[in-house]
Amino acid sequence: MIIIMLGAPGTGKGTVAGMLEERLGIKQVSTGDIFRKNIQEGTELGKLADSYMSKGELVPDDVTINIVADRLEKPDVQKGIILDGFPRTVAQAEALDTILSNKGKKVDMVLNLITPEEEIIERVVSRRVCSNPECKTIYNVIMNPPKQEGICDKCGSHLVQRQDDNEETIKARIRTYMEQTSPLVEYYKTKGVLRTEEVSQRINHLGKDVADEVERDIKNNIL
Ligand code: AMP
Repeated sequence: MIIIMLGAPGTGKGTVAGMLEERLGIKQVSTGDIFRKNIQEGTELGKLADSYMSKGELVPDDVTINIVADRLEKPDVQKGIILDGFPRTVAQAEALDTILSNKGKKVDMVLNLITPEEEIIERVVSRRVCSNPECKTIYNVIMNPPKQEGICDKCGSHLVQRQDDNEETIKARIRTYMEQTSPLVEYYKTKGVLRTEEVSQRINHLGKDVADEVERDIKNNIL
């Protein structure tokens, strides 16, 4: 099964994808995480990615598509994958369709998350993530704090704040989303695979509720 997480930054894509990974036993692959790992390791890819990420811009399509194409060849994603943060442009979506159709596969579900912009900004600046690349659990210091400040409940590693999780960069990331990624909503609606969910405190419907509903529907075979 191939699931795509779509939505502006801070809508909860990573949180929902992480929950679905655990519950459905399908691997979550986040292009943002791949870039952050490369930045941390100081690779050439990391240096390139950082020059875009720090400004809230997208890493060029050719670079990103090649990374995902390679990742899709790995044995651990042959029975399914949750793509978190890819595709982010129509060119990426078209390339993904070609890669998948060459393997006799297709996108099964696009989970499009929406959240009011004020909530996004609030959520992003209070987000902390586990620094252990095997864990990457996401917390919110106000809504979902760890039991011990700065420490991951699950693995005991230190929590960190992403460099691009500040008010200035998040505004640029939202602009980038509106200009380059939001056309994908129509792209996948036309293909009949789009499922839109509001994730918001305003309606008391959070990432966990979305994961519960999607898990239930997949297990009952209602997509
Ligand atoms: P994320 O962790 O998904 O919020 O991504 C963080 C940043 O990584 C984005 O703001 C982009 O700069 C870059 N990035 C992640 N995924 C992609 C993608 N599919 N295409 C281009 N840039 C990406």
